[in-house]
Amino acid sequence: MRLQKIKIGTILIRSFQGLLIEDEDRDEGIKVKKCDSLLRGMVVSMDIERNVFTNGYVAITDGLIVDVGDVSECDYIGQQELGGDGHIIIPGLVNVHGHLVQGCMRGMAEGTTFEDRFFGFYYPMTGACDEERSYVSAMPPILDLVRRGVTTTADDHFTHVHKDSIDGVLRAVRDAGIRCRMARLTINDKDAVPEPFRENLDTALAETERVKSKWEDDFTTVTASTIGITYCETDQLKALWEWTVANDRQFDIHAPAVFDQKYLADRRGWKGGSFEWLDNAGILGPNVIAAHAQNLRPGEADLIRDSGATIALVPDMEQVLGLVSFDARQFLERGVTCGLGLDGPVVAYGHDLWTAMRSFLTGQRLGDEYRRRSGDSTSKWTGEEVLWGSAEQALELATIGGAKALMMDDRIGSLEVGKDADLVMIDRRGETQLSPPAAIIPNLVYGNGPSPEAISRVMVRGRAIIKDGEHVSVDRREAIKSLDALQETLIHEVKVERFVRMRSRYNWV
Ligand SMILES: [Zn+2]
Repeated sequence: MRLQKIKIGTILIRSFQGLLIEDEDRDEGIKVKKCDSLLRGMVVSMDIERNVFTNGYVAITDGLIVDVGDVSECDYIGQQELGGDGHIIIPGLVNVHGHLVQGCMRGMAEGTTFEDRFFGFYYPMTGACDEERSYVSAMPPILDLVRRGVTTTADDHFTHVHKDSIDGVLRAVRDAGIRCRMARLTINDKDAVPEPFRENLDTALAETERVKSKWEDDFTTVTASTIGITYCETDQLKALWEWTVANDRQFDIHAPAVFDQKYLADRRGWKGGSFEWLDNAGILGPNVIAAHAQNLRPGEADLIRDSGATIALVPDMEQVLGLVSFDARQFLERGVTCGLGLDGPVVAYGHDLWTAMRSFLTGQRLGDEYRRRSGDSTSKWTGEEVLWGSAEQALELATIGGAKALMMDDRIGSLEVGKDADLVMIDRRGETQLSPPAAIIPNLVYGNGPSPEAISRVMVRGRAIIKDGEHVSVDRREAIKSLDALQETLIHEVKVERFVRMRSRYNWV
């Protein structure tokens, strides 16, 4: 047995060198298994034991992982063999919160108030997007995701002036080959939603069914939801939630949403918090995923834990907005499932999940310090403290955590036998910021990840959608050209010129 193992190793070394396996080796009765793709490198598996195979391999057949382990144990040869020294293989990253159609107004939040941007240009610009425009608007943000290693994204779409706007986003998703959990959000509150965006329940559910039957496949699922409690009439919100339960889908909601603070007491007569409202309405359950979940009232984190709801943390955006009270620890220490999300490109600068991993840590530590100083001004650092949280934990949240938060961990989130081969292979040989390798995970996470050029493969169910930093079928230069032109058209068409570079201190000549 031992001899045979050594012999198999010999064959594999030869096969890695690109030599053909000769028949005489086979004649000796050695069983070498074939697979479609064999990837070698440091394998960060994210399995339950968090095994990292420093000289590991992943074998893939028919899009599924058929084996993972240390190279010395490998008895596979691949039809294609990739990686080797200097390569790192991690599970595909999972973005649990987004609004991809916002590509057309990327970064325009700078210098605006929430109401400036929401009513001023956000609704008008996205409201003018039909299927084709939404496709153009969503594609660069999708390419941001996949070129940095995201293989699964959630999306929340709520601008349905053109009912086919959501179809444009989903067509871009399909063309890019990324996995997507799309939530079609219904909004109709008179205070929070301009008239053309309001939908009645019958239309909303009929459209959700239409989108579901048109787009659902092995990579895309569609559910119904709303933006937040105060964006939808109460009975309709409950009906949307009931639809998700009946269809075994997630209910995705911003909580607390921005307008909750303004209207929950005024318009709904509710003095408590958003999670208390959801719980009181009988809605807070395991199929709820709540985005942001900051500034909670005492006891609400326990309510979330007891309900089994999951949280889409959005730390990078919170930090851009200066939310010094950011607190993910309240959930993680209670065992609440959390993933990391980016939110829409209007505020999610760079649209990069690696920055979210870093912001999860820096945001939490700033928040801890804020709470420490505001709660006990006499406490001070002794030099004995180990900072809470770690780069490893951040990478967990961006992979297996996100997969659990989207209830997809039976298929993705870790590199384990039987799961779909959704993974990222990084070639760190040209990455000066990732050398030397003793602290490789902290260097990846605090250093905002590998450069796109160093991402040699992004695979979704074994199919490469990125090769050596470039998308295999979408031309990013064309995508940029199209979006540049669309933004120019939209700004003039819906007359939002005053929001361009609002409050800029530069003289634009
Ligand atoms: Zn959002």
